[in-house]
Amino acid sequence: MAEPVSVDDHLGRILDHVRPLPSYAHSILDAIGRPTASKVVARRALPAFDNSSMDGYAVRADDVAAASAGTPVTLPVVADIHAGDGAARMLKPGTAMRIMTGAPVPSGADAVVPVEATDAGAVKVQITAPARVGAFIRRAGEDVQPGETVLPAGTVLGPRHVGLLAGLGIDRIDIVPRPRVVVMSTGAELVEPGRQLGPGAIHDSNSFLLTAAARATGAIAYRVPVDDDDPQRFLDALDGQLGRADLVVTTGGVSKGTRDVVKEALRTKPDMWFGEVAMQPGKPQGFGLIGEDRIPLFALPGNPVSSYVSFEVFVAPALRRLVGRTPELRPLFRAELGEDVRSLPGKRQFLRGDVTLGPGGAKVVPVGGPGSHLLGGLGAANALIVLDESVASVEAGTSVPVMLLDRDY
Ligand code: AMP
Ligand code: MG
Repeated sequence: MAEPVSVDDHLGRILDHVRPLPSYAHSILDAIGRPTASKVVARRALPAFDNSSMDGYAVRADDVAAASAGTPVTLPVVADIHAGDGAARMLKPGTAMRIMTGAPVPSGADAVVPVEATDAGAVKVQITAPARVGAFIRRAGEDVQPGETVLPAGTVLGPRHVGLLAGLGIDRIDIVPRPRVVVMSTGAELVEPGRQLGPGAIHDSNSFLLTAAARATGAIAYRVPVDDDDPQRFLDALDGQLGRADLVVTTGGVSKGTRDVVKEALRTKPDMWFGEVAMQPGKPQGFGLIGEDRIPLFALPGNPVSSYVSFEVFVAPALRRLVGRTPELRPLFRAELGEDVRSLPGKRQFLRGDVTLGPGGAKVVPVGGPGSHLLGGLGAANALIVLDESVASVEAGTSVPVMLLDRDY
């Protein structure tokens, strides 16, 4: 029996075999929630031209330097400039132009006096306060410079990004469409929820759990329950799915029993690996590339918690690579441990935890115990407490790394 591989080595090998899917141009509103396939570089400046940030009067600061409420400066108003007015204008010394918010500042003007500091005159204007050079002028390029990278590749587009792109005049952007994930459960004991259980039978939770987990990453996920332990039936079902899959996840049938259907069915395929990963839960794992299109297939263990942890640790980063999302690895945060915990040296341990945020920062308490069949504990958890291979026990009060599960960081 080969030595177990480490979590990092297994993940590294997986990522070595997963290539990003092709990207296509989409309208920016259709791209919301998807990562950018390449970086976005501004082709123009924001603002595109010097413009007024107030309704007021464009002037030369020098001309109004002596203005005060007691000794107003009076200037002739030689033009009205509205937002969208594209006429080239030149302000002569000793004059003012009435200007609206967003309107281009005429050349020769170096300040805007807000209407509040004037008598709002239309033919001539009395100005009752001085203006410093640059006052109430939004300078061209002060926000974004041409050539600047405004979004790195892999940025998940949200409303603010879409607003920025639109402001830059960009209406379409390259993204990878939602990947299609096929989730297959296996096991003669499985019965669909909503149906009557016979003796020894259980409801299929994993196909729902993993389909939901895949959808939570933005994938389109198809649930394919195979309530059987016959390798040929499994292979037939798999064959029928490959045409609509960018990635396949199976659950169950990969341990050391006598009816390990997935392992039996796929063991002899080229480019499939089955073995043990030094982690708890999730020890038995399979991974490979399947079919003509060499689609990544993850053969996850059958215990519900093991399958879910394996999904978060291995499948989620692969899905990120498929769509070009960064960072590929879910970031770990830190929280203060609420009680003592034990771990298995030599294995990376993923305990279910409940993280709460309080005035003293993030705290985490283990929930549900370490058993990998404990669906109730999984339902109560919102995080995985990650204990490294070197750790045997951790005392309450220690800061520990946690992977937050309810938010797709
Ligand atoms: P296996 O590796 O197929 O022997 O599965 C290990 C354990 O996980 C067994 O107790 C199975 O009954 C259970 N199991 C496997 N698949 C599922 C599933 N889809 N839903 C719930 N439990 C499962
Ligand atoms: Mg099974």
